[in-house]
Amino acid sequence: MAQETASQDVDQMSDEALQREYADLREESVAMSISDEESVAMSISDEESVAMSISDEESDRLADLWNELTRRSDVQQPKCPECGARDWGFSDHIECRDCGYGTHSEEDELRQDIQSAWNRIMHGEWQ
Ligand SMILES: [Zn+2]
Repeated sequence: MAQETASQDVDQMSDEALQREYADLREESVAMSISDEESVAMSISDEESVAMSISDEESDRLADLWNELTRRSDVQQPKCPECGARDWGFSDHIECRDCGYGTHSEEDELRQDIQSAWNRIMHGEWQ
């Protein structure tokens, strides 16, 4: 069923509502981009399989939700080694939103730091 309700302003939402909507939208975007079978076959993790084919509107919303979550939390995302920004985007891989620097390797320490910051933001350990 299509969602007809107007999106709430992110700054009017509770922390939990932000986290929930962010998680839902991500899930939806993943479901749209790959079938379950494919995702199992490729053993894609949450962090790796975001937003490949959602609409611009949804991906803007996802960015708004994420920005609000990172603003509210005091979780410091790791610094980009290229440009020093602390703003990571999660598309089909993790990449700096400022300069596009990407980290692909599972063993990468930076990538692990980014994911642990992401987990802290999403699971509300900062509240
Ligand atoms: Zn950068």
